[in-house]
Amino acid sequence: MGAARAVGMITLVVTAVLGSAYLLGRGLVPDVSRTDTTVTATGAAHVEYADQSAADADPDTAATTDTGSSEPDDSDEQEQEHDPNFGPMGTRVSTGTAGVALTFDDGPHPDYTPQVLAILREHHMTATFCVVGKNAQAYPWLVEQIVAEGHTLCNHSWDHDVALGARPVDWIRADLMRTSEAIRAAAPDAPIAWYRQPGGAWTYSVIAVSRDLGMTPLHWTLDPSDWRAPGATRIATSVIDEARPGSIVLLHDAGGDRQGTVDALYQILPELAGRFEIQALPPRGL
Ligand SMILES: [Zn+2]
Repeated sequence: MGAARAVGMITLVVTAVLGSAYLLGRGLVPDVSRTDTTVTATGAAHVEYADQSAADADPDTAATTDTGSSEPDDSDEQEQEHDPNFGPMGTRVSTGTAGVALTFDDGPHPDYTPQVLAILREHHMTATFCVVGKNAQAYPWLVEQIVAEGHTLCNHSWDHDVALGARPVDWIRADLMRTSEAIRAAAPDAPIAWYRQPGGAWTYSVIAVSRDLGMTPLHWTLDPSDWRAPGATRIATSVIDEARPGSIVLLHDAGGDRQGTVDALYQILPELAGRFEIQALPPRGL
């Protein structure tokens, strides 16, 4: 307990220092692995799916994330001033509990999703899967398995359209509904109470539509940039060092070579299990 607290405090300090350094200028950020999350997003230019830190590149968001450190003990006054559960445009960035939520985006994928499911099963953990509609349609048995094994579903648009938020409202609505229909075709009774915008490229339109369709806009707290395929060790180190109570961790089980993410889970899950409760977000939302 003491050790966990110490690690947590160190993480908080490091996070705070890096956050401050970022606000002062990127030249002061000493750790290359952290600068990844402050690089300006290039979402639209990406050929493969990826949820890069579009919003994390925004200093306001960096400040939000840092304020949301959710210290387990003595930060009540600070938190009242700035609710750490909500981030860019009011999207959800915290579990709201002391637990940590792992989220897997862009799948399902026939190579990686079964491996992720197997590791989670082995550790008796549940997670949240933000699935792409056309992948749900292509691999319905994986959606079915995700639900059958107690994980939570999240709508991640039909075709991973990073620019979806800028499109007409009717277009957005049709995209999200088509995605949910593909998910329901695979798992008829599973609730779909979360929506994550590809690239984190939120707009008020896409937030309004997702809420109107009964889905809570889901952002993230911690982005190890696994979509850049930096290798299992860097992904694992980032998550292990930066996780804190309430973190929502952004990971990917599709959209490129995700073996590094899968391999990182073998380090991440046992490590986090000793410090946090790892749980899927509530399937029916918050
Ligand atoms: Zn994505």
